[in-house]
Amino acid sequence: MLPSTEKILNFIGGEMRQPQSGAWLENVDPATGQVYGQIAASSKEDLETAVTVAQKAFPAWRDAGAEKRAACLKKLAALIEMHCEEFVRAESMDNGKPVSLARAVDIPRGIANLRAFADAALEFSGECFENDVSESYTLRQPHGVVATISPWNLPLLLFTWKAAPALAAGNCLIAKPSEVTPASAFLLSSLINEAGFPPGVFNVLHGRGAEIGAAITAHPDISAISFTGGTVTGKAIYAGAAENLKKISLELGGKNPTIIFADADFDKAVEGAKTAAFANQGQVCLCGSRLLIEESIFEKFKMAFLEKTADIKIGDPMDDDTQHGATVSKDHMQKVLSCIALAKEEGGEILTGGVPVQVEGRCENGFFIAPTVIENLPQNCRTNKEEIFGPVVTLMPFKTEEEALSIANGTEYGLASSVWTEDKEKAARMAAGIDSGIVWINCWNLRDLNTPFGGMKKSGIGREGKHRAMQFFTEEKTVTRPK
Ligand code: NAD
Repeated sequence: MLPSTEKILNFIGGEMRQPQSGAWLENVDPATGQVYGQIAASSKEDLETAVTVAQKAFPAWRDAGAEKRAACLKKLAALIEMHCEEFVRAESMDNGKPVSLARAVDIPRGIANLRAFADAALEFSGECFENDVSESYTLRQPHGVVATISPWNLPLLLFTWKAAPALAAGNCLIAKPSEVTPASAFLLSSLINEAGFPPGVFNVLHGRGAEIGAAITAHPDISAISFTGGTVTGKAIYAGAAENLKKISLELGGKNPTIIFADADFDKAVEGAKTAAFANQGQVCLCGSRLLIEESIFEKFKMAFLEKTADIKIGDPMDDDTQHGATVSKDHMQKVLSCIALAKEEGGEILTGGVPVQVEGRCENGFFIAPTVIENLPQNCRTNKEEIFGPVVTLMPFKTEEEALSIANGTEYGLASSVWTEDKEKAARMAAGIDSGIVWINCWNLRDLNTPFGGMKKSGIGREGKHRAMQFFTEEKTVTRPK
């Protein structure tokens, strides 16, 4: 049995600990609007304790060898798998996402991340070089104490995506999950000792970003930070980390285009565009929030897309057949609704949705927003340029490949894109021309954990993915001798 998530404690030096300040935050279930628990509001004192135990644990963990590190990660994966349904329900209650999604995506991917980086620990190695006068090799060594800061939209998935490579590479870790969705990281922390991690190797600190997150960023003894979250926060972390020249990896926001050509497989494209727009209530950094449709099929595609959208079942996230749950918080719901109001001011026509939804029964006070489709907006208005991060998609027609590319590239972001066409050469031209770190052809969010993952422009700095993340979490050293 895992502990109750009603009291979310820190995990420092192998022990659950209360926050030293005695301060707590409220944890709200977004599907009901009710406070259901308390979260440790960590302060600098908690961070000092965590850094001290992590520094002490580092030499032994660094020298423990890849096999030991891989074994701990694999054991943790097996323990989460054993408690899968408890994680599913905790994730759904904390975030508002349907249990079906947490069961199909979030928790299995969290487990897969731990396993992938257990393998990476064993596979990862340096390089050899040789010329007429010398031979060299590189060592990849852990930084020491590092930190990860993760967001609320895919809580366990993104927490493990960062924590696993940090630990696999031999670092000691201070991991800060989002204060909006701390439950699954807390449950995971209750399994860290059983997985075999020595005390001090894997620490989890909860609390507000502006407080404990900023303290982590400024701490001189934390050598690297891997961050996923909003672009504004990413800039603050980048600036805050500059003083100590920390290594920084930033995975930030997106305003991703889904581009539909007339020669696409129509039914697959409609289904793909719907999933890209509304998965996780539109709260995935990769969501296709701008739907670009070739003019000759615009009306037909629009009608089919609206029909599919109307079929999405909105309801209690705990019901197995719910497809669309609550947005993550009241603040976020209001932010998304204000973006919809702005879209109307900018001349947008709301084709469906645009309003909060009242779900009957226990969820009547929850934060639900109907999937929303908007058309008739110019490509360069704020609605088409700024990230909304909710169930809102805009439709735009285009005539040529060049026009599609120009619209697709017309934002400050460059995270992901999805192109639908049966013409392989056209797909390749589009892939080469789009400014995004990830391009999916005739699919969306089809992930191979070995591939580089990350964004261009204001969507981030650096790449994650198996070996890229191992590179980030290690320092490279070149050793040379004469021949
Ligand atoms: P956020 O930036 O508000 O918070 C992310 C994390 O940063 C949280 O743990 C938060 O506590 C912490 N934080 C906040 N202020 C901080 C500060 N001043 N110093 C240090 N830490 C601080 O983001 P969010 O609202 O949790 O998540 C949504 C955003 O994340 C969206 O913009 C989305 O696109 C982005 N995101 C990006 C990716 C990606 O891979 N590129 C993946 C998921 C989400």
